[in-house]
Amino acid sequence: MAKFQYEGYCQGVPTSLVKEKFGDANVYAQDAKSILTKASGFISAYDFTLNPYRGCQYGCSYCYAAAFSPNSQMRQDWGKWVIVKQNAADILAKELDKWYQKNPDKPPTIYMSSVTDPYQPIESKTQITRQLLEVMREYCPILVIQTRSPIIIRDIDILQRFKYLRINMSVPTGSESVRKDFEPRSPSIKARLNAIKAIRQRIDPLKGYQPKISITITPLLPTLPSDEAAFIDKLKIADRIVIQEFHASHSRSLVAGTRKEAEEIKQKYSCWYNDEQLSYIMFKEKLLSQLPGVEIKEGKEGFGYE
Ligand code: SF4
Repeated sequence: MAKFQYEGYCQGVPTSLVKEKFGDANVYAQDAKSILTKASGFISAYDFTLNPYRGCQYGCSYCYAAAFSPNSQMRQDWGKWVIVKQNAADILAKELDKWYQKNPDKPPTIYMSSVTDPYQPIESKTQITRQLLEVMREYCPILVIQTRSPIIIRDIDILQRFKYLRINMSVPTGSESVRKDFEPRSPSIKARLNAIKAIRQRIDPLKGYQPKISITITPLLPTLPSDEAAFIDKLKIADRIVIQEFHASHSRSLVAGTRKEAEEIKQKYSCWYNDEQLSYIMFKEKLLSQLPGVEIKEGKEGFGYE
């Protein structure tokens, strides 16, 4: 019998390979022991991070989360495997019960997700993220959802029940050609902005809560001059824009940083990256002058709920 690609990577952990591929990703299923993780790093202001999956089918070239892959082969193949935390909703209910026993008057702050996309393609089938939302809405947490996927609009019916919700839609560039270079497996820019528009339009303020909406341009990728004006104009749909430079690059595992793949692609855009700091400052100035009604935040301070 042919060996599965990563068979044996998790000896001692009950994991099964679901006998299918989803796109070109190997799909695994695992029972998680816990699902809420104490938040740290740039989101340390939150109580917890919540990751319904391990791995991410979008496989963005610059993704720092690849550093936390189970082994070096899987780190190299970032984007080509995903582990489904199949019991996530059950565990979450228990962990939220426990939180409220200790903190009866304090809703937890939760960031979903820090090292995966909760609405990557497999979510359309497994609905793990939807199950988590169904659990959470009973507990009224303060929730931030970070995604780049239009699949989120499937859940508008539940999202509008959250009183404290911010949706961070990741759109690091306004140029499709740049997106295809840095993150070829991800949804188009248009699809992401349309998803935000749909959320804005479909929630009736008399029947549900409008979420706060951020567009996270993190890391800030180049936007071609011919696309810039139209892109900035479309950002008006958000109430906050977050910009951030690239992470420092690291080749070691278990160290979050920009991957070598992205460093190589950056060379194609030398007119932007020859003076990366100046490009960043100029873009920020344009946001500030052209989006007077939108909050512009940088780095860590932009990722909070408030
Ligand atoms: S969508 Fe997010 S988690 Fe997934 S690969 Fe891209 S940056 Fe990483």
